[in-house]
Amino acid sequence: MLIDSYDRAVNYIRVSVTERCNFRCQYCMPEKPFSWVPKEDLLSFEELFLFLKVAIDEGVNKIRITGGEPLLRESLDKFIKMIYDYKPTIDLSMTTNAFLLKGVAQKLKDAGLKRLNVSIDTLIPQVAQHIAGKDVLKNVLEGVNEALSVGLKVKVNMVPMQGINDNEIIDVLQYSKKRGMTVRFIEYMQNSHAAVDLKGMKSEQLLQIIKEKYNFIDDGFDGHSPSHYYKLDDGYKFGIIEPSGDDFCKSCNRIRLTAEGNLIPCLYFDEAMSIKNAVKQGDIQGAAEILREVVRTKPEKNRWNDSEISTRAFYETGG
Ligand code: SAM
Ligand code: SF4
Repeated sequence: MLIDSYDRAVNYIRVSVTERCNFRCQYCMPEKPFSWVPKEDLLSFEELFLFLKVAIDEGVNKIRITGGEPLLRESLDKFIKMIYDYKPTIDLSMTTNAFLLKGVAQKLKDAGLKRLNVSIDTLIPQVAQHIAGKDVLKNVLEGVNEALSVGLKVKVNMVPMQGINDNEIIDVLQYSKKRGMTVRFIEYMQNSHAAVDLKGMKSEQLLQIIKEKYNFIDDGFDGHSPSHYYKLDDGYKFGIIEPSGDDFCKSCNRIRLTAEGNLIPCLYFDEAMSIKNAVKQGDIQGAAEILREVVRTKPEKNRWNDSEISTRAFYETGG
């Protein structure tokens, strides 16, 4: 069992398999980065898997594949199957923009994927085009339909932005509710890679909008999830992820691994340690020591309240 210095058990790793993306979301990667990490500097699936085996042996039982856009990486189903075959009880999920999901959802499920989080910021094609930089909505919605039809559990992530999609809070909630998907509204987190003039929406603003349409009660935090849940009269739950609060830091159970092998103890914490040399040399002991050290140095709280804007790219850390 991995325990950090604040007595929190760390049992969850988010693995970014690529920083590349086929979208240019305003809040994440509005411009193509000046340079990508060269493909040869990315860890192979075998190398990532070597590290994940170490982590699983140390007690990790929840793994989320993310990116960039994870579906851009070839043979992702084989990577999923490697993890699943090593420990079928792992809670194995993925966060995706769903653009490439149609046609592969069944393959991913058969490989062992259990759950998906899909980003849907709007249901209006032109707004989707504005947010993502290209005409994406049709593919995204078809991908979601297919994921649901093959029996994958799906949650929806929406980043509400003033003047862009703030009039669609109820629509996205109803779209998700109708299909049995939980929606989570993520407060926009300012970072130096995002479009400069973006304005997010605070939890109170979102709750006010929803209150005009629905009665709901506060349902609190669910386990280690960063999401604060609310329950409508009919039992449907929606969530709000509020990074400016540090409530969820108290029960944070996660660390992050980037595609080039940097192990990050906290999303808003610039320090990281590389596992690259260890896994390239097949040094299991070395990888385990780095893992324990990163868990040991996990900060108590995120640094949201510090004055500087984070320079860490969401497409690199996987959000
Ligand atoms: N490409 C995939 C996707 O968009 O779902 C996975 C990677 S993306 C970085 C993971 C999550 O981070 C998405 O739900 C996205 O909405 C969220 N995200 C990215 N930039 C953000 C920001 N500045 N503030 C809040 N959430 C952000
Ligand atoms: Fe790509 Fe996801 Fe970032 Fe959008 S949020 S640019 S889909 S990595």
